[in-house]
This record gives sequence, structure tokens and C-alpha cells, in this order.
Amino acid sequence: MASATYDNNNIFAKILRGEIPCQKVYEDDVALAFMDIMPRADGHVLVIPKAPSRNILDADPGALGALMARVQTLARAVKTAVAAEGVMILQCNEPAAGQTVFHLHFHILPCWSHVELRP
Ligand code: ADP
Repeated sequence: MASATYDNNNIFAKILRGEIPCQKVYEDDVALAFMDIMPRADGHVLVIPKAPSRNILDADPGALGALMARVQTLARAVKTAVAAEGVMILQCNEPAAGQTVFHLHFHILPCWSHVELRP
């Protein structure tokens, strides 16, 4: 199967270009992090690279390493900010795996043993 290409009109590309708003929590030259618009848990944050990648399957390994360092820092910060007991990192690749926005993104999902993730 031919790999799908990057579509510059996806909603996260528009957020990166400032064409639609987001609730930004962090930004540097590598990554942007913002609150998920339909949070599955309190403190649900998305981390995206500034460089265009459809998902992890087409990402440059070096860029991925830099991005993961941001994911780790933000996961620690979010866990502390909302006093979570744990953190789930979720990342979906292609529609069959649940991906609906086709710009690479990592979900940071705070978890508590007595709270279920919202659907
Ligand atoms: P899923 O929709 O199954 O979670 P993804 O892993 O592709 O699939 O996640 C896309 C995420 O982007 C969803 O959690 C959705 O709520 C979020 N989202 C969509 N549009 C926006 C937006 N404008 N601002 C913030 N989050 C958004």
C-alpha cells in the first residue's frame, strides 16, 4: 500500500499557522502543546511537532526524539498540575487505529485509579 501524504489543510496545521485558535500550554521551536478541545480527562493535553508529519510512521527519527523529550517534560508538568496518579501517553496512526487528525500528535492523559477516561 502506498503511504498517505501530509495534508497541509488539517486542523493542527491550521493551529500551527495561527488560522484557528488553541488553548496553548507550551511552545518552542520544535513543538506546540495545547488543551484537547474534547478532553477525555481533566488536563488532557496534545503535543504536536512544528514540522509536518502525518503520524509516527512517516516521522523523522531524530525529530521524533526531540519531540519525545517535550512529551516527557509536559507529561511530568501536567501530572503535577492536576495532581494525577498516573499519565497515559496515547498516539494513533491511520484511521484503523483511531487517528482522526492527520498531523502527528501525542495525547497526554492524566489518570486516577478511581476515574475512567471519557469516551
Ligand atoms: P481521536 O479523535 O480518535 O482521539 P486522534 O488521536 O487523531 O483521534 O485525536 C485527535 C484529537 O484532536 C481529539 O482528541 C480531538 O478532540 C482533538 N481536536 C480536534 N480538533 C481540535 C482543536 N481544534 N483543538 C484542540 N483539539 C482538537
